Amino acid sequence: MCIFCKIAANEFGTQFLFENENVLAFRDLDPQAPTHILIIPRKHFENVDELTNSEPALVGELFAVARSLAISEGLPAHRTVFNTGAGAGQSVFHAHLHLLGGRSFAWPPG
Ligand code: AMP
Repeated sequence: MCIFCKIAANEFGTQFLFENENVLAFRDLDPQAPTHILIIPRKHFENVDELTNSEPALVGELFAVARSLAISEGLPAHRTVFNTGAGAGQSVFHAHLHLLGGRSFAWPPG
């Protein structure tokens, strides 16, 4: 079972900022900004491409959760990111949307 499937099965007692039958959100273990939240589908998809192919509406659900968390966390400026593939920085191969905020961000990203 992948690490995020284990988190979804609540094996580590992770505190969820949001949860419903499809989606979970929790804080990143190694935050890259003052606020760094991961929003994931409960079901395992290797990356957002696989998720989009199988369940496109769920991609919208992840962004809707990011939107409400950006409001509740007080982040009018924020960045949402899917890394797809090791070359793009993906290290956990269970689709996840990063929500980052609380500092300014450079563009283009490194
Ligand atoms: P990515 O590099 O886009 O695949 O993002 C994976 C993210 O998962 C990284 O930001 C890690 O810090 C984070 N991460 C890995 N394991 C855990 C965990 N057990 N709990 C919370 N975040 C984690």
